[in-house]
Amino acid sequence: TSPTPANFIRAAIDHDQRSNKQQGRVVTRFPPEPNGYLHIGHAKSICLNFGIARDYGGVCHLRFDDTNPEKESLEYVQSIIDAVRWLGFSWSQDNVEHLYYASDYYDTLYRCAEILIERGYAYVDSQSSEAMRALRGTLTAPGTPSPYRERSAAENLDLFRRMRAGEFDEGAHVLRAKIDMASPNLNLRDPVLYRIRYAHHYRTGDTWCIYPMYDYTHCISDALENITHSLCTLEFEDHRPLYDWILARLAEADVFKPPLPQQIEFARLNLNYVVTSKRKLLQLVHERHVEGWDDPRLPTLAGLRRRGFTPNSLRLFCERIGVAKADSWIDMSVLEQALRDDLEPLAARAIAVLDPLKLIIDNYPADQSELCTAPLHPHQPERGVRSFPFSRELWIEREDFAEQPPKGYFRLFPGNRVRLRYGFVVECTSVEKDAAGNLLAVHCNYFPDSKSGTAGSNNYKVKGNIHWVSAVHAYAAEVRLYDRLFTAEQPDANGRDFLTVLNPNAKRLVHAYLEPGVQSMQPEERVQFERHGYFVVDYADSKPQQPVFNRIVSLKDSWGK
Ligand code: ATP
Ligand code: MG
Ligand code: MG
Repeated sequence: TSPTPANFIRAAIDHDQRSNKQQGRVVTRFPPEPNGYLHIGHAKSICLNFGIARDYGGVCHLRFDDTNPEKESLEYVQSIIDAVRWLGFSWSQDNVEHLYYASDYYDTLYRCAEILIERGYAYVDSQSSEAMRALRGTLTAPGTPSPYRERSAAENLDLFRRMRAGEFDEGAHVLRAKIDMASPNLNLRDPVLYRIRYAHHYRTGDTWCIYPMYDYTHCISDALENITHSLCTLEFEDHRPLYDWILARLAEADVFKPPLPQQIEFARLNLNYVVTSKRKLLQLVHERHVEGWDDPRLPTLAGLRRRGFTPNSLRLFCERIGVAKADSWIDMSVLEQALRDDLEPLAARAIAVLDPLKLIIDNYPADQSELCTAPLHPHQPERGVRSFPFSRELWIEREDFAEQPPKGYFRLFPGNRVRLRYGFVVECTSVEKDAAGNLLAVHCNYFPDSKSGTAGSNNYKVKGNIHWVSAVHAYAAEVRLYDRLFTAEQPDANGRDFLTVLNPNAKRLVHAYLEPGVQSMQPEERVQFERHGYFVVDYADSKPQQPVFNRIVSLKDSWGK
């Protein structure tokens, strides 16, 4: 793996390294909430955090930010672990696994809250959430202090302990930081640190009935793990003063010693023609608009994997889009090009006929067949050749024949000659139709001395070159062709219901005829079907000797065309 190009985050870390601000250490973390499957946006964060740790000789922790009991589950935890591993990253260093759960910090987080209360930095507010919101003020008007703001530390401590003990209903009290109700930054207007929730947590069960808020949990988790650089998306920029405030108050109390972790924000990935919000992905899955979290149409990492994207192509994509401080939209074609660039040198070639039309070679003996050979990879002769049979009846692509050829058409039409790629030159003699006039088959004669790779082949100059498979030998397979999941570039723009722009034709099934050799391909093995694109053997629906193929991407960018 190549080192990631420079960016402003690396510049900041270089600066810290020179000034020894973080004592020469680089420790990052990737902190997903296990409330859904990871998506392509998370890949950006994963590549950034793990990439930086790798390049600076540090480590990146995988931390489950699991403080919303209602929405989290072990299934999601496992899917996230699988996705990060699949992308090729590791959270272990010197045989230590840096896999953490914020829920493991509940005791410590609780203890820190007591310390803040004791020091007059937090109080129990007993207003309703509506009343609290009403006093919060606006961007232009300062907030108003809660009537409970001046409770004594002793009273606050007593109430907080009773909150924990389960003496109150949900919503009866919250714990708030005591910062500044007049701050121009709304996040500093006494943010809530804890709320009461009688909810079962997938790891801590019913041990807790108060749960810490994200902003409170996150900075303390970072400090507990000695994170040096806490990289997060831009929407947290306004939360940074709160991050720093909480850690500074706890450092005052000697809970943490400097250097404290520092938050640095970067722009999130926005990719067109998809949605990357876990809530919306969840809706697509639960309402069965797609077939599951790993549906090849989804931008989840599980979906991209099943579609056939390689880990390397996703890392390449993340490298190419870079890391910036301003939001922008990335075109889907950038992701697809990364896949092509990764697979071009790797994928062996094979032939697939996706929309078959029968071609009959009348002067070829019915009981005969012979082998034709083709390179496994046209630019890597050292990889050798593959061979496949030629016989009297072949399948060709329907679009490679025209009864009335349009101008400039070089493929097959009555009276015209083409080369059957890697095989013989044929001349079209007639067509066969049913009573309704539908084309049933095309008849040709072949030229026995025209076989590719033989001396005689040079005597035939034809403009068209079409692909084919032998009808009796071909592997008849199910092939899935995918298109974008949404018909709009920004499906959820301006509050539009993204379901209204779902593309009903995003998945198309075809019954194709494939070069026989591909029948032994293994799940997740990839191939380039000449002219049609890159394909992968579907890991879920394939059986031994019966692979089912997903098209990952076509050979050329056909978006919007
Ligand atoms: P979502 O909005 O999809 O629920 P999230 O940010 O709530 O995403 P988390 O599980 O909290 O999901 O995300 C884990 C990490 O991934 C966070 O550090 C977050 O900033 C980062 N991340 C999430 N989405 C993107 C994105 N589109 N681009 C870059 N980083 C992202
Ligand atoms: Mg989040
Ligand atoms: Mg979220």
